[in-house]
Amino acid sequence: MCGIIGYSGDQNAVDILVDGLQSLEYRGYDSAGIAVFYEDHIQVVKAMGKLQNMKRIIEEKGSDFRSNCGIGHTRWATHGKPSDVNSHPHGTENLTLVHNGIIENYLELKEKLIEENHYRFQSETDTEVAAKLIDSFYLTHRDPFRAITQALPLLRGSYAFGIVFKDFPGTIFAVRKDSPLICALDDTGYYIASDIPAVLKRTNRYYTLMEGEIAVVTASGIEFFDSEHRPITKEIKTADWDFQAAEKGNFPHFMLKEIMEQPEVVEKTVSAHVKDGLPDLGVEGLSDEELKAFHRIIFVACGTAMHAGMVGKAIIESLARIPVNVEIASEFRYNNPVLYPDDLVVVISQSGETADTLAVLRLAKSRGCKTFAVVNVVGSSIAREADSVMYTMAGPEIAVASTKAYSSQVCAMCIFALKLALLHQPQLTEQVRLYTKELLTQIPYFVSAIVNESDKIRYIAESFKDARDLFFIGRGIDYALSMEGSLKLKEISYVHSEAYAAGELKHGTISLITEGTPVIAIATGDECYEKMISNMKEVKARGAKIIFITKYGAPGAEQISDRTIYLPHCSEIFMPLIAVPVMQLFAYHVSVLRGCDVDKPRNLAKSVTVE
Ligand code: GLU
Repeated sequence: MCGIIGYSGDQNAVDILVDGLQSLEYRGYDSAGIAVFYEDHIQVVKAMGKLQNMKRIIEEKGSDFRSNCGIGHTRWATHGKPSDVNSHPHGTENLTLVHNGIIENYLELKEKLIEENHYRFQSETDTEVAAKLIDSFYLTHRDPFRAITQALPLLRGSYAFGIVFKDFPGTIFAVRKDSPLICALDDTGYYIASDIPAVLKRTNRYYTLMEGEIAVVTASGIEFFDSEHRPITKEIKTADWDFQAAEKGNFPHFMLKEIMEQPEVVEKTVSAHVKDGLPDLGVEGLSDEELKAFHRIIFVACGTAMHAGMVGKAIIESLARIPVNVEIASEFRYNNPVLYPDDLVVVISQSGETADTLAVLRLAKSRGCKTFAVVNVVGSSIAREADSVMYTMAGPEIAVASTKAYSSQVCAMCIFALKLALLHQPQLTEQVRLYTKELLTQIPYFVSAIVNESDKIRYIAESFKDARDLFFIGRGIDYALSMEGSLKLKEISYVHSEAYAAGELKHGTISLITEGTPVIAIATGDECYEKMISNMKEVKARGAKIIFITKYGAPGAEQISDRTIYLPHCSEIFMPLIAVPVMQLFAYHVSVLRGCDVDKPRNLAKSVTVE
């Protein structure tokens, strides 16, 4: 959430910042703003709403509005509504800053700054408090570095800051705690950014900034300081994402592009984790002996990643017979969880920066548990802090609604489950070998076949696009899938939707089914197929219109449903990988047909770095 960009070099910073914000917009679009050194002052341009609004103001300023250094921000509001005045950057006459995070003690600090330093505040943000706090120190000695290091210990909460001082043209100060920030370089200059896609068009060479470290960025280089403010040297890393991966190409939306990329993502994620025909986590810091010794696995995640964890639970429990709990990170962290040393805590996060998930990781470590992370972004905070990491190979995911990252997480779950089965149920070795082969060689083709059904799914979506409420039902692994399907639909199309375990309907929810209520029923397995048919009959009897997602040849499918979407046959444990694109495409088409902003749904942003 919130995107930060900064540049100092020999190119026009205004263009670079606007470009960078364009790539970061998925992190927040409540407002956008930049601050650049211009003539003898810092010029701020900011506007509420999408980046386009700010771009218009910049265009009006004409081609003379150029600079070699500045910072930019795209906001996902936490403190203070989206408005021009609450937009970043914020500052004083001496300094200007952009912020990603939350200053938890901002009210207390604000009162002090008003009382003791007589500051007047323009915005309702927590960010402006940080700006004035740094300024209050700066006024006494005019040393930016010292002012920042004096202010930081007084701030409670999370932050990544990019800060410029009027009297230090060409210099950006950057610091982070619990919010992501990288530095990068190319032949023209030096950058700061919330993530790699923001700079990928220009460079793939970057440095990661660790907790509490400070970077001083100028056109001629970057100086780094550790959390004790001692100079340090850092190693340059190279991102292997190419910039095309973060571009829309010929697709109308990132979401559609990312749905279509899934066959390749599945293939990549799986093949990176198979060795000699068997699953191989390929991680450091977690031996087979250790994996064998865990008595319980606890998946902790948020949103879509948690749904991937639910799929993982179903597969692990059925194959490896180890108990698995799936927990919501924001709940788990504050529930004083019962953790044992022989529990393995597995955190799942696309960005590797999800604030609540990161907090759980730290909590689990502090309780002596071994931690394992399933993460997409190399070098992210969760990837760095977990005892071992398994990377998903989804590449940059730009659309706010996760699609290919979910599929890659489910692939990771499959590999993890197969590996556990190998260790805990050695009699299944040959079966595991067959599963691994199927996952590697057949599943990508099936996923490809399904994403090519997009037109058919659009046709079905047309009849359901005006629904006010829509229900997803399923059992077992299909219930986990229903949850993901329902989340996808509501987040991008604003249709109220709920997912229910099909057997639970009659315990309350069925009262919501009336004439014409759409129900999406998913039955990819055999064991409960007949039970599902009964549950569908129950809703049908109350007037529901049913879209049925099931396997080719499923008995009685067409008699009971209004529309049927057939899936190719594969092992049940892999069905989620084939079924989920159907739901993603359904949500996508409903959203487009309703005229919604598919890639940037209201109130949402990607990479949830605040709790
Ligand atoms: N707390 C800041 C604001 O509301 C930054 C929000 C964020 O990083 O998401 O403006």
